[in-house]
This record gives sequence, C-alpha cells and structure tokens, in this order.
Amino acid sequence: MADRGFDLEGRLDALEEHDLKRALSPVDRVAERGYFAEPSGGDLPVLDSAEALVFASNNYLGLTDDQRVQDAARQAAATVGTGAGASRLVTGDTLVHRDLERQLAETKGTERALAFSSGYAANVGTIAALEPDVVFSDELNHASIIDGCRLADTETVVYDHCDAADLRARLEERVERAAREGREPADESWLIVTDSVFSMDGTVAPLEAICDAAEEYGAWVMVDEAHATGLYADGGGVVQAEGLEDRVQIQLGTLSKALASQGGYVAGSSDLIECLCNDARSFVFSTGLAPPAAAAASEALHVARHGDARERLWENVAHLRDGLESMGFEVWGDSQILPVVVGDRRDAIALADGVRERDVVAPAIRPPTVPEGTSRIRVVPMATHDRDDIIACLEAFQAAGEEVGLL
Ligand code: PMP
Repeated sequence: MADRGFDLEGRLDALEEHDLKRALSPVDRVAERGYFAEPSGGDLPVLDSAEALVFASNNYLGLTDDQRVQDAARQAAATVGTGAGASRLVTGDTLVHRDLERQLAETKGTERALAFSSGYAANVGTIAALEPDVVFSDELNHASIIDGCRLADTETVVYDHCDAADLRARLEERVERAAREGREPADESWLIVTDSVFSMDGTVAPLEAICDAAEEYGAWVMVDEAHATGLYADGGGVVQAEGLEDRVQIQLGTLSKALASQGGYVAGSSDLIECLCNDARSFVFSTGLAPPAAAAASEALHVARHGDARERLWENVAHLRDGLESMGFEVWGDSQILPVVVGDRRDAIALADGVRERDVVAPAIRPPTVPEGTSRIRVVPMATHDRDDIIACLEAFQAAGEEVGLL
C-alpha cells in the first residue's frame, strides 16, 4: 500500500540542516514569567441574562459563568498580564500556555498540543502548512477548513456529507485518474478533513469508517472537534469517544465553545507540532493567545474533564429532543445541537419569533446558510439549564408551533 502521509521528520531534518528550525524554548525558561500567584479578587460586572432563556449558545457547558473559570482568567491577568505581548516564538510564551497545551495533549491522547489565537487560525494555518497535494473534504465542513484549502492552493475533492462510501469512491477515482495520467500517486500527500460535530445539522461524522478508508488509501485524517471538545469521553471529543486517537493524525478545535474562552488548538505528534511552530503562519506571525484566555480554557477543560457538567448537558439534550419529537417536530442530528427543521423560511422565522415572544431565544437559520427547503431553528441546550428551563423551552415551542400551524 502506498504511503500518502506527510514526511514531517524529513521536513524538520531539512530545517535543522539549514539552521532554519524554530522551536518554543524549554518550559523552565518560560516559567520565569510566573503564573501561580494570589488572585487579585474583586468581581467583574456580569451581563444580566435573566430576561430570556438562551437556547442558541455554543457555551455548551455554561462555563463562561463558572467562578473557577473566571478566577483562572483573573489570576492570569493579574500575574502574567492581559496580553501575551508578542508571538509565542519571540517573548509571548508563558506557563499558562504550556499548562493549557499539556492538558489538551493529555485529554486528546497525543504527544503534544499547540494553542492558536482562534480555531479559524488553527485550521487555516495547519492546512496551509501541510501543503497537501489533495484534500478530501466533507461538503459541510467549516469555512475555516475551506479557507485553509484555498490558502494551501491544494486540489480539494468534496465528498457527500458524512458519507464514508462516497469518500472511498472519491479516493478510488483519484487513484484511477493518476494511473490514467501516468502519474505515481504515491508521490502525493493526501489529507481527509472533517468536522466531528456539524454545527448546522447536528450530525456526527462517521470517524471510524473515515479512518478505515484513510488507512486503505494511505491518507492522513484531520478532525475539527470545535463543537465536540469537552463534551465527550473524559472531556475529549468524538475521537476520544470512539477511541481513534491513534488513527487520527491531527485533532483540532476551538477554545471558544465548551471551553468557555477564546482561541484554538491543534493536538498531534511532536513532529506535527514542531512543524506547525515553523510553518503555520497563523501561529508564527500572530501574537500568542492572551494569557487570561489560555488560563480560562485550561480551567474549563479541567472542569469539563472532572466535573458533572457533561452529564447534565446530555440529560438536557435527551429531555429536549424527546419533548420536541413527541410534539411532532422533525429534529435532525445526533449531538447536542438540535436542528428543528421546518422547511419553509417564513415558517422558520415565524416559529423563532413565536418562541422569542415567550422569552426563549433560538434563532432561525435560513438559506444561504442552509439549503433551500431546510430552514430550521437550531436549539442548543446548555449544562446550566435546569429542568424548569427545559420545560419552559418546550412549552414555548408547543405554543409557537401551534400558532404558526406547524403542529
Ligand atoms: N471550526 C468549526 C467547526 C467551527 O464551528 C468554528 C467556529 N464557529 C471554528 C472552526 C472557528 O473557531 P474560532 O471561533 O475559534 O475561530
């Protein structure tokens, strides 16, 4: 079987040979900037969110309000500073970053992890740095994956949403095409990229079948766990839930959803992280993640791994899905994102307005964001919703659904 992976060791050796290799400094040098000191105390103003129940946030575990997470951010601001002040490779590296990356690697079951200033920057920087010859991309992948492919100027083959059989057919087609053109596809590097949880459909990618196909054709797999990190097994994503850590070469995501902060990350082998420190321009030429954001994400990850917020979220998801379906609504997906699909865009807007009048916020999603005829309301519970909140949401949907004539 041809090896269509990426020779990261070779790349690193070449950089070293030409004295061009950059690396983060040893962690004891970073420690000089300090980290663990007494928090300064004092409460920051909190926005009043009492007037409506929000069922449309990516703050899935409700941790942006968590005292421990807020304290971690305050403490980092007070001891390390509010900003990194420079890129990580220059003077912007701190123990707060290292602590976050160590914990991400541990959660993701990888050798290392690297924090980026956003999930968008992580996707764009990673794909462009790898310069794959061909990317096989799910048709509903996030915009930052699409932009990464554009920036890498790579050939992108789009496969049907969550369809491993279609992916396999496209891989085979590509082998046959190369043979017809008399090229040796073994010279090429191939990357299969997918979101794990898709934000508009709530679907979950068939990662095991994708890994099977990847291994058969020698390609690498990159999974964007933006909507999954923190929510699945031991605070990981779908890769952890399915035990695929050793078969997915690149795990990536955001710190801005369940991890209640801002920023992104990539987790993988040491070679991968070292290559990104050299070649991911969105890492090299961008200021390090702000220390309070890194510290908040780190604490949120700790809470996600060891607390009961995940359990509460999934209970709320089950309660809400059961309730909506038993009313007669069509609910897509298989994750914490519950798209209530009503079809017509005017009906979707009327339903969203109706639930809003009943103090529940869950906006309508219409074309061009989603295909014509599949307008929907994306209902997303959080771990911090209590039983009464879920019941209030269901009652709002029942009343508004009847008013619009959908039930
Ligand atoms: N990937 C996916 C699947 C996302 O949904 C998002 C955010 N909407 C991103 C990447 C980008 O993450 P960030 O907001 O941290 O830039």
